[in-house]
Amino acid sequence: MADGSRTTEARRDAVFGRWVVFSPARSRRPTDLKSHNPTTNPNPGLGGADAPKPSCPFCAGRESECAPEIFRVPPAAAPEASPWRIRVIENLYPALRRDMEPPAPQDGGAKEEEESVPGELVVRGFGFHDVVIETPRHDVRLWDLDAEGVRDVLLAYAARVRQLEEHPAVKYVQVFKNHGASAGASMAHSHSQMLGTPFVPPSITTRLNCMKEVFEKLGNCSLCEIKSKETLISDTPNFSAIVPFAASYPFEIWIIPRQHISYFHEIDQDKALDLGSLLKTMLQKLCKQLNDPPFNFMIHSAPFGLSSSCLPYAHWFLQIVPQLSVVGGFEIGSGCYINPVFPEDAAKILRELDCST
Ligand code: AMP
Ligand code: ZN
Ligand code: ZN
Repeated sequence: MADGSRTTEARRDAVFGRWVVFSPARSRRPTDLKSHNPTTNPNPGLGGADAPKPSCPFCAGRESECAPEIFRVPPAAAPEASPWRIRVIENLYPALRRDMEPPAPQDGGAKEEEESVPGELVVRGFGFHDVVIETPRHDVRLWDLDAEGVRDVLLAYAARVRQLEEHPAVKYVQVFKNHGASAGASMAHSHSQMLGTPFVPPSITTRLNCMKEVFEKLGNCSLCEIKSKETLISDTPNFSAIVPFAASYPFEIWIIPRQHISYFHEIDQDKALDLGSLLKTMLQKLCKQLNDPPFNFMIHSAPFGLSSSCLPYAHWFLQIVPQLSVVGGFEIGSGCYINPVFPEDAAKILRELDCST
């Protein structure tokens, strides 16, 4: 049964500007919420065979079955060539293609097609779509790595984003991870992806517009403004992990730099270690509490070359979304979400959950 002390409430999120309905009438006890699609570890317990899965091109020893490598960690040119721990490779089936001519910079490359509805725009499908293989082992998940291992994955993202920033036609890089088939993953081997786009995607523009509106009203950035201890899960010297006040999804988590920083890819070694350790803990908590759910995480950063007047309200963060239910017609139709778990309840459960054993 739902917590009787809560009543139905609609909250507007101060980052995406989205309305979310919290409805105790639709909820079970938050502690009863579990994934029906656990992503069962391909080789639970670890320490098992580290033989590659016969058909997995991301396993060590099968590099020739992958699209070209961009770089690896440790670097291939390191004096004592040791085996790779992380590989950043081209996507074999890219959504956007690096071999296409980029759109012309003067008009953003957009052209109106003769047969299209006026106002619709078309740009060539240029862009970069890369895959980050987070471990050579098929049986290891991101949160099975130690904090240094997760740090190195985060630093690999940042290094690749910095390379893509050099390309004049790339306006934004979306870093993301799909884990589990119902979160969109087609490969079980632990990996993440990034897409460099020749335009700023609309949800990034919406997010910045919403944060600007809050900044003009409060004189502060939406994420610097978060103070509630009720929705805090855990913090470290540089980051806070919270359940956002108007979370769209049950047990959604945001990891936010405590300092106002606009770009993820400026992260340094120390902060990446701090983030690596917190991200590992949050993924462990979700796995334990929700029965190894499918999930996505996304790094929300600022578009390249953002004007200095926008920087005061652009604050990067990492969003983790466990996929516990399917998005229905109300969400698709209205852009509003119904969340059966109050953020304060989800935060309390995750805060008190002990993952040390
Ligand atoms: P996901 O579908 O989220 O699991 O991401 C896996 C990505 O890996 C997909 O976008 C695939 O296109 C890509 N992929 C699959 N096989 C290969 C391969 N052999 N080399 C490079 N990329 C691959
Ligand atoms: Zn594998
Ligand atoms: Zn801020």
